[in-house]
Amino acid sequence: SCSSNLIRATLFPGDGIGPEIAESVKKVFSAADVPIEWEEHFVGTEVDPRTQSFVTWESLESVRRNKVGLKGPMATPIGKGHRSLNLTLRKELNLYANVRPCYSLPGYKTRYDDVNLVTIRENTEGEYSGLEHQVVRGVVESLKIITRQASLRVAEYAFYYAKTHGRKRVSAVHKANIMQKTDGLFLKCCREVAEKYPEIKYEEVVIDNCCMMLVKNPTLFDVLVMPNLYGDIISDLCAGLIGGLGLTPSLNIGEGGIALAEAVHGSAPDIAGKVSIKDISSLKHLKCNLANPTALLLSAVSMLHHLDLTDKADMIQDAVLKTIAEGKYRTGDLGGSATTTEFTKAIIGHL
Ligand code: NAD
Repeated sequence: SCSSNLIRATLFPGDGIGPEIAESVKKVFSAADVPIEWEEHFVGTEVDPRTQSFVTWESLESVRRNKVGLKGPMATPIGKGHRSLNLTLRKELNLYANVRPCYSLPGYKTRYDDVNLVTIRENTEGEYSGLEHQVVRGVVESLKIITRQASLRVAEYAFYYAKTHGRKRVSAVHKANIMQKTDGLFLKCCREVAEKYPEIKYEEVVIDNCCMMLVKNPTLFDVLVMPNLYGDIISDLCAGLIGGLGLTPSLNIGEGGIALAEAVHGSAPDIAGKVSIKDISSLKHLKCNLANPTALLLSAVSMLHHLDLTDKADMIQDAVLKTIAEGKYRTGDLGGSATTTEFTKAIIGHL
């Protein structure tokens, strides 16, 4: 059957607006004839004892088997006795690098027109190791763990990414003047890897100075690689440079070549499942339809690049950018009044 030519990928529509924006991706992919067969997985309704989380064991196995997937936002139910969904995925799949391409969207005006950089964040250790305790009353301690293994791994990925994406420079972001041992080791690992890539320029930037430079002139940077906490902050700062989290794609790289793409925004409960005025009059799509699917679509584009489906990736990215630039069909978060469906249709029209 022709399905043997298809690449299987796991799809987590997720919660809130997740299913609405996932639907948009499915429609655009099928209109663009992308050779992908989605294996859909939903968050469970009860805790799976094998994962101690609402993410089921079968879902994890699906990503491990397919090695590639796309994830909508997941809202972790409040309550004790289970792990956060995102944390479960990150730990179980060993998603060690978070990659966020960040570029200005033509036609969508922000303070900067020419941002084009990529942040690569170490995603498993540093200040986020979860090792905090009270020493004595009034004194608490949090352990920042930096290992040679995890630092080399993320540095390797950053240089590999730079090379395979035609990028010229990698900047390691740090505070090694103060955190001499931890950030010092991180930098040492970056330098070791840099030596293997003489064609790529390597530099080191202190985090505070990096923030100032990014805000003054983001074109100073190309690929940035950094430990967990700095990456968390800098990647959101960069998203702000181009118009916010609703537009920013991301790709998580895991052990064994796993790649899980995801939008960086949450499930947007304030607009999920809401009907726009237009829909009430036509009574056609009686739910949802306010969410902007751009971040998930561009995350899916990152996934296609990872799979070397460059033509399809470029085709979809161009169509999304054209639709936003044209300005006729924009969702509410971008100041427009188009529904998710109308925006999606316009993208398909530009393919
Ligand atoms: P959020 O990102 O869901 O929403 C923040 C604001 O941005 C809201 O006003 C929302 O309407 C808007 N927004 C976000 N995405 C949008 C889109 N695609 N189109 C239009 N508007 C959009 O953040 P929150 O409210 O802090 O979190 C809500 C839930 O999402 C929480 O349960 C949280 O745990 C979860 N969350 C999940 C992830 C993830 O799965 N990666 C990330 C962040 C938050």
